[in-house]
Amino acid sequence: MRTTVGLRSLPIASLLQIFTSAAPHSGDAELQETQLSMAALAQALASETTLYGAEAVKFFNELAKTDPANKLCVDCGAHNPIWASLSYGTYFCLECSGVHRSLGVHISFVRSVNMDSWNTEQQQKMARGGNSGLVDYLRQCQMPEAYHRIPESEARRQIAEKYHTESATAYREHMGRLARGEPTSLVPVMFEVKTAP
Ligand SMILES: [Zn+2]
Repeated sequence: MRTTVGLRSLPIASLLQIFTSAAPHSGDAELQETQLSMAALAQALASETTLYGAEAVKFFNELAKTDPANKLCVDCGAHNPIWASLSYGTYFCLECSGVHRSLGVHISFVRSVNMDSWNTEQQQKMARGGNSGLVDYLRQCQMPEAYHRIPESEARRQIAEKYHTESATAYREHMGRLARGEPTSLVPVMFEVKTAP
């Protein structure tokens, strides 16, 4: 369940508390590991540093510990995606990144996990996102499951359709308000394909 207040106005410690409460706690060892990764994440977010290459990969690996869905392409399920969308805080594979780029930056702002630099603001945007956030939301919007794991042959058309829905637009706008520190709440907007511009 996502919070309805502007996360940006919260101190990093509170932000981390939200992550920690969302993290899996199935055993002591796992809990300890989660706490360690949270500490590393807090350090990265508080340090006002731009991350690049191996440092950026390390940061995203820490985020994936709280949202393992980040390790699979949000669009087709391919393993270890290395492209990301700042618009949704999500991760996808090379193939799907091509489709995201074709949608335009107003629909999906695409960056490479390991070949682009990530400033603090961008790190915070990604920390508030995660693949499961978008997938869970689109489920609440009753978007057909086919759109969650799109077969390669159908990818271009269906991914374009998926991100041209009122549901995806509502999620993107919510993430934008979060990034600007504006109050926001996320209510399901029922699945409906809009005509691509
Ligand atoms: Zn993919």
